[in-house]
Amino acid sequence: MTKTVRNFLALSFLLIASTPGLAETASTGEANPSLKITLRVYDYAQVRPRTLAGAKREAGKILRKAGVEVVWLDCYGVTVEENPACRQSLGPSDLVLRIVRPNRAARAALRHNTCGLSVLPKNGGGGTYAAIFYDGLEEVAKALRLPRKLILGHTAAHEIGHLLLASTGHSRRGLMRAVFRPKDWDRAGMGDLLFTPGQGQRVRAGVMERLRQQEQAVQMAQLVPAN
Ligand SMILES: [Zn+2]
Repeated sequence: MTKTVRNFLALSFLLIASTPGLAETASTGEANPSLKITLRVYDYAQVRPRTLAGAKREAGKILRKAGVEVVWLDCYGVTVEENPACRQSLGPSDLVLRIVRPNRAARAALRHNTCGLSVLPKNGGGGTYAAIFYDGLEEVAKALRLPRKLILGHTAAHEIGHLLLASTGHSRRGLMRAVFRPKDWDRAGMGDLLFTPGQGQRVRAGVMERLRQQEQAVQMAQLVPAN
């Protein structure tokens, strides 16, 4: 497929995916700057800085195409002075991503090739915490000869998707597939493994609701007199 045709298809997809209020920004491939989430990253696996930076770009692009901008905060191994935002209490629009290398017992409890998980509350609603298992991810990268940043970025976007969609469910196509086959990674490499239009709408609705709750929390805090 030529680049022009791919771009045309991508643009069509974005126009279909956009809601009326977001049409202007979504059609240009830009996130609505007001739909912003903060992602605190705890890189316990000590991923190479270039790989982590590339993965953030990959995940950021996917979420931007769904109309959401991600503000990344590196929170592992930094002091309060370096990144005071990491110490603030978590609000509705704050998410936490841990990149870990689980021990042998934890790995045995995981399904083969599981690269990540997200934690959703039992009583419904979106989640806050997700984890990525870097060992499993490296195995996939080695077996399929794929760049780690590609797999890390798409795995992160997939897990963030679970948190924002408030669902553990998977779809038969797109980024929220349960399993990524080699041909899905081919699409990922072309920047074409994305949320479906319906998922994109739900992601935006989820972020809007989080921002509304965040605003309410701020207003409530202002009502409490300072001692
Ligand atoms: Zn999943």
